[in-house]
Amino acid sequence: MDTLLKTHNKLEFLHPVHGFADKIGSLKPQNLEPKFNSKKSHIKLSRNLYVKANSSALLELVPEIKKENLELELPMYDPSKGLTVDLAVVGGGPAGLAVAQQVSEAGLSVCSIDPYPKLIWPNNYGVWVDEFEAMDLLDCLDTTWSSATVYIDEKATKDLNRPYGRVNRKQLKSKMMQKCISNGVKFHQAKVVKVIHEESKSLIICNDGVTIQATIVLDATGFSRTLVEYDKPYNPGYQVAYGILAEVEEHPFDTNKMVFMDWRDSHLKNNKELQDRNRKIPTFLYAMPFSSQRIFLEETSLVARPGLPFKDIQERMVARLSHLGIKVKSIEEDEHCVIPMGGPLPVLPQRVIGIGGTAGMVHPSTGYMVARTLAAAPIVANAIVKYLGCVDRSLLIGNEISAEVWKDLWPIERRRQREFFCFGMDILLKLDLEATRRFFDAFFDLEPRYWHGFLSSRLFLPDLLLFGLSLFANASNTSRLEIMAKGTIPLVNMVNNLVQDRD
Ligand SMILES: Cc1cc2nc3c(=O)[nH]c(=O)nc-3n(C[C@H](O)[C@H](O)[C@H](O)COP(=O)(O)OP(=O)(O)OC[C@H]3O[C@@H](n4cnc5c(N)ncnc54)[C@H](O)[C@@H]3O)c2cc1C
Repeated sequence: MDTLLKTHNKLEFLHPVHGFADKIGSLKPQNLEPKFNSKKSHIKLSRNLYVKANSSALLELVPEIKKENLELELPMYDPSKGLTVDLAVVGGGPAGLAVAQQVSEAGLSVCSIDPYPKLIWPNNYGVWVDEFEAMDLLDCLDTTWSSATVYIDEKATKDLNRPYGRVNRKQLKSKMMQKCISNGVKFHQAKVVKVIHEESKSLIICNDGVTIQATIVLDATGFSRTLVEYDKPYNPGYQVAYGILAEVEEHPFDTNKMVFMDWRDSHLKNNKELQDRNRKIPTFLYAMPFSSQRIFLEETSLVARPGLPFKDIQERMVARLSHLGIKVKSIEEDEHCVIPMGGPLPVLPQRVIGIGGTAGMVHPSTGYMVARTLAAAPIVANAIVKYLGCVDRSLLIGNEISAEVWKDLWPIERRRQREFFCFGMDILLKLDLEATRRFFDAFFDLEPRYWHGFLSSRLFLPDLLLFGLSLFANASNTSRLEIMAKGTIPLVNMVNNLVQDRD
């Protein structure tokens, strides 16, 4: 089925097949092109003007996009030499660079291909601090909050005693790029269009006419899914969010706490139509208060199928900000977020290997991925090094090496875990505002090891079953009935899939 997603300046039908990537790219115009006709980078509206604000007035505050590049001299791949590199990494996002860095550290030759290799990543990433601490990446967080707040409704609030951080994407990318450079990684600035496989190597065809030869090809092109193949209908849910990093006159939030979810809806009480829409498919506010006047605000639809239109999300955001007394003076950057969640895994195994968005690694119930991908990079890198670095390379060729790497990336326990998370997503897809509130009320009252473990992909079966039972036991009677009513078919599907999936 076609998925209709509407942006503020475009109406697009997204076909859930290959090629989704290009559409996503156009949904994230901050990546590539300036938007709107604003000539000023910051426009200030007077108080009077703001009072009349609707979503288009808010959008007029959006600056032309600053495309900031890292100041680095990149050692470029020389196509005239016709060398076959050990590994070609297609895509220079967090996933691709993490693997490029680690494989090159082991002395293998690596070529990293991306159309914008120096561009600072556009997404505003948030992570739990313990996730980055475990990877020794605390220096790549630019702000941390000692706790996070969840507003269930007007009366109930939960304080999550778990520090949260914002990723300093410039620092993280610089760090990875510098390591890649010192390990001898070569860069090629282009878009990959196709791959042709021979028995012991692959030919990667780029849009500038260059062909790069590699023993192993890693597709790390995010949700573009450029090279990795899928053989089942692509039917993900979509997390859609609109975010602004803004200078405001004031805001009501404590700067020591980030707002993980604000499900309050009193801002919609005078707009019956919006309130009804929000009751059916709710959105919440996610906010990172950096100071009393600088804040990242993101109105988010956790998961819906089809994805919620941006215009709807922006309208809700404007109403919320107005109700909270948040007067936006200027917007530093904005973010159009579309994350496909769940859906099938790629064909396992296949010749091209994958990591990150392209390899089904987004958490199907939350949309988070950065920490999980960075933690998985050593698994992929070690597998590549193990098979390519072995004394007699001729023992394994093309498809066999890839099969071994896929096995390490998606072992049976990870596949089962993902199946459970997809079950979670299938339930969330069916919950209206009241049911969603009841769900998270019970979820965040669980023992920390359960909710931390669930959000950070650290729980595996059978612990996930204990988590499920514990959630059920914690839930109100109404919530239990809802989970049973809405969860029975997804549960049967999950059990079927679990039974069918064997090593
Ligand atoms: C707006 C937004 C906000 C997000 N926020 C969070 C968050 O807060 N926390 C979290 O955990 N996750 C978040 N995610 C989810 C996920 O972590 C990110 O999408 C993450 O960037 C995925 O990393 P990646 O390396 O797999 O892909 P990407 O970061 O998308 O990188 C893909 C790279 O591949 C390149 N590329 C694409 N096509 C080609 C081609 N044909 N040839 C060569 N190169 C190509 C692109 O230029 C890009 O550099 C967010 C996602 C979005 C879209």
